[in-house]
Amino acid sequence: MDTSAIKLLPGRYCNSLTEYSRFVTREVNIGDVAMGGNNPIRIQSMTTTDTMDTIGTVEQSIRMIEAGCEYVRITAPSIKEAQNLLEIKKQLRQRGYKTPLVADIHFTPNAAEVAARIVEKVRVNPGNYADKKKFDQIDYTDAQYQGELDRIYQKFAPLVKICKEYGTAMRIGTNHGSLSDRIMSRYGDTPQGMVESAMEFMRMCETLNYYNLVISMKSSNPQVMVQAYRLLVETMVAEGMNYPLHLGVTEAGDGEDGRIKSAVGIGTLLEDGLGDTVRVSLTEEPEAEAPVAIALVNRYVERGKLKGERQKVKGDVTVEENLSPLTFDLLPPQYNPYEYKKRDTYEANAFIGGHMVPRVVVDLSKENLKDASVLNAAGYLYSPLLDKYNMADQSVDFVYFGDELPSFNLPSNLKQLYNYKTWKKLADKTLCHPVFTLTEFIEADDQSSALNLVRIKPADIDSDAFGSLPFSNSLVFVLETDAAHGMADHRAFFFKMEELGLDVPVIIKRSYSFNTQDSELKTQDLQLFSATDLGALLIDGFGDGIWIDAPEVDVKTITSTAFGILQATRSRISKTEYISCPSCGRTLFDLMVTTQMIRSRTSHLKGLKIGIMGCIVNGPGEMADADYGYVGSGTDKVTLYRGKEAVKKNISATNALDELIGIIREDGNWIEPSLAE
Ligand code: SF4
Repeated sequence: MDTSAIKLLPGRYCNSLTEYSRFVTREVNIGDVAMGGNNPIRIQSMTTTDTMDTIGTVEQSIRMIEAGCEYVRITAPSIKEAQNLLEIKKQLRQRGYKTPLVADIHFTPNAAEVAARIVEKVRVNPGNYADKKKFDQIDYTDAQYQGELDRIYQKFAPLVKICKEYGTAMRIGTNHGSLSDRIMSRYGDTPQGMVESAMEFMRMCETLNYYNLVISMKSSNPQVMVQAYRLLVETMVAEGMNYPLHLGVTEAGDGEDGRIKSAVGIGTLLEDGLGDTVRVSLTEEPEAEAPVAIALVNRYVERGKLKGERQKVKGDVTVEENLSPLTFDLLPPQYNPYEYKKRDTYEANAFIGGHMVPRVVVDLSKENLKDASVLNAAGYLYSPLLDKYNMADQSVDFVYFGDELPSFNLPSNLKQLYNYKTWKKLADKTLCHPVFTLTEFIEADDQSSALNLVRIKPADIDSDAFGSLPFSNSLVFVLETDAAHGMADHRAFFFKMEELGLDVPVIIKRSYSFNTQDSELKTQDLQLFSATDLGALLIDGFGDGIWIDAPEVDVKTITSTAFGILQATRSRISKTEYISCPSCGRTLFDLMVTTQMIRSRTSHLKGLKIGIMGCIVNGPGEMADADYGYVGSGTDKVTLYRGKEAVKKNISATNALDELIGIIREDGNWIEPSLAE
């Protein structure tokens, strides 16, 4: 295939950065449920039962299917589990469930070769399929490197041939935490290393004329994961490939953190128009994952329809056929989607913009402003006894009162925002700042000497009014949008700002209403949608503050969602981070219970990253950049890690948490909970 035309398109990893357009990939057959092309974005998850527990695995699979899974993945750590997939499949089919099964393989080519004859798809991890990771620092010569690739080819080709013969699909699933020593020696622990790790296997498949491939680039760090997928697409396009993408954030954790982290990574790529299947990894029951994935994906079904999805593509469509009808946006010169760089802005009032962490705004205008405890939800804990406030780890930077006036004294460090006309009438304007409309600001006869916030929509940048704005270093934009694809609308505004050379700090504001009366679903949708819309911009370095407006959701949830998004995008750290695996048939302890137990004693250690992994086989590799690790290494046995080093091996699970706290204490990273409060 002549790919020269494609190579002329550097830096392109999606169809459009400023409007929704799904990147159409090759259609791949997985049993009766095809993926890629114009098929819906598929939902999937993985069982957590022991694969030798046939009934348990069948019943859990059914619960997952009923919850919306279109593929079910089951771990096959050795030949006996791979063989038992036949029994699991038989029982599922007998009960009327035709859902394709996927065997999850790590380290065991012989198990893969058995499974590939039974199930519809196998997943291999190129970091540990016939490759090794000993954390050796070896410099490979070109000849040694090629020698390794030849060795891997010999081990991998038999599996590919079986897949071809049986019509089995394959996922080449790279994990950031389990790159081989060979890849690490040449590319390091980078998105480029992740991409190359998969590309080597993909090229081998193409040499063998096997194209039934799906690719993933997972990491527990959404920023790394997003960059890796984008780079993968660019690399694939340059080499004339267009395989479907399986999106996921590994070890995302549970509850709010898990949902927000997953949405930041997966949502950002869905906004780019990438992704053919989604697996949300939560440290919860696997049937809890599908509804989250469905909520993330459903937002794009309507967008696709609104835009009039492109023509149906055939399974053997070429990259040129896919790309030729599309118009690429030119990437602005300063914008690099593969590397994080915060947009350059000035520091307004030494408080927002520049090198400051992104600020958080919440709206209290509809709350009871006669009671000081209303501020508890915004992170200022009022003590009536002492008549003073204590700041929590997650205390907002601005509260918006609109046209309402609180009748209590506010904390001495909390900035208040009022609509311009109300602000003008305030007798004492200390810490009080005006929020203008664009026209009000242009016509205003009074401004704050410290901070002036101006509400603006992306299209305003092309208006005459924008041209007559009185710019000064006290100006901050509050960027709003009504567009269905609001993230792209906002991103277009940031591109325009760069084009015009404007370094005004911007608070990104999104408003949400919901189609449900269920308050739990409202909370979940808020977490997922705002993490997608705001997280996608923060991952690209856009935004000096965030403002989530959701009148149907309580302020406490809005506050913790905002800080959760900043934590997941690593733009502002306000709590302990838990990198906990979703568990699978290899898991050696109850992950949900253990995670809660560890959280209950360490959640005050702001900024620390603790990995909680169910098994020693994959756990240490997949903890990625955790500071400490708690890893199951046998029945009731735990191995503790400091970074990548195992410091206490096979200790009793009974006192493993105390030992972990001891290590944290030895390192000088422990804080007594009473002092943290
Ligand atoms: S780290 Fe967790 S999810 Fe991964 S293989 Fe081990 S037990 Fe399974």
